[in-house]
Amino acid sequence: MGRKLVIDKDECTGCESCVEICSEAFTFNESEQVAEVNLPEGGMEDCIEEAIETCPVDCIHWEDD
Ligand code: SF4
Repeated sequence: MGRKLVIDKDECTGCESCVEICSEAFTFNESEQVAEVNLPEGGMEDCIEEAIETCPVDCIHWEDD
């Protein structure tokens, strides 16, 4: 069983810190003013984990695939 990286868009405040920390895995959707996942399978684990820990509203999660 794999895992998938997801952002809860209802919670995201659009602070962009995840995009600044890990632009490989996250992008910013200007029209919706929320972050989106670029790399749902992961990769670049260190910066993903740092972004998860830094998110002020704790809305980036791994989900079981
Ligand atoms: Fe949204 Fe969290 Fe990324 Fe900020 S760090 S843009 S709140 S997902």
